[in-house]
Amino acid sequence: MIIKCDCGADPCGRWKQPPAVIFHDRHAKGAGASERGFVYSCRACLSPKREEEIQARERTLGWPKGELR
Ligand SMILES: [Zn+2]
Repeated sequence: MIIKCDCGADPCGRWKQPPAVIFHDRHAKGAGASERGFVYSCRACLSPKREEEIQARERTLGWPKGELR
């Protein structure tokens, strides 16, 4: 099972540096969305709706915007 974003970012930095946190994005459309119901996405490639959810979580946790990466 390979977990990486369409742009090549992955948690280990194998394809692209630096290593990136990969999110499950249920609002995105792309490879995997039809078969799994979500796509793996790095922060930079998240759909706007998922980005909002994560910003809300950052506010809840009291973390600066963009801390989850
Ligand atoms: Zn990406």
